Amino acid sequence: MRNEMNLSFSAQSQNESFARVTVGAFIAQLDPTMDEMTEIKTVVSEAVTNAIIHGYQGQPDGVVYIHASIDQGVFELTIRDEGMGISDVEEARQPLYTTKPELERSGMGFTIMENFMDEVKVVSEPMIGTTIFLKKHLTKSKAICN
Ligand code: ATP
Ligand code: MG
Repeated sequence: MRNEMNLSFSAQSQNESFARVTVGAFIAQLDPTMDEMTEIKTVVSEAVTNAIIHGYQGQPDGVVYIHASIDQGVFELTIRDEGMGISDVEEARQPLYTTKPELERSGMGFTIMENFMDEVKVVSEPMIGTTIFLKKHLTKSKAICN
């Protein structure tokens, strides 16, 4: 049976762990492997951190939106902001590319998302915002039968 959730919260760094734990609790019902759980939580952290520090540039009144669904072992996640957007998505996705080296960013967020998920799609428009679509096939039978 398909199951889905929506979450929206202020773009404040303390909400990164809230988002990570909430999505983790949502997928726990599928009895994912420990690796899958860790990978999905890490991806949530990366995308939410990006929305907060890059999308909204630390402005706390921005809103981050998360939609997640599970259907026949397929986990889909959308993380969206209405922040400054990305002018060149292809460049931003390159390993080690960062526009904030002074904040000790390493430019590995998108690379981590690509390694941990089966599909990563980035749709972004300057001054409109950024949406990250992520998809992962979970392996265990419980995920697939549910
Ligand atoms: P790290 O994730 O390793 O701390 P980083 O955030 O700079 O460093 P990525 O997550 O790979 O690296 O993102 C690469 C670049 O893409 C960022 O430096 C930023 O310029 C841009 N970017 C990513 N997400 C967003 C977003 N939601 N809004 C605007 N720009 C973004
Ligand atoms: Mg990042």
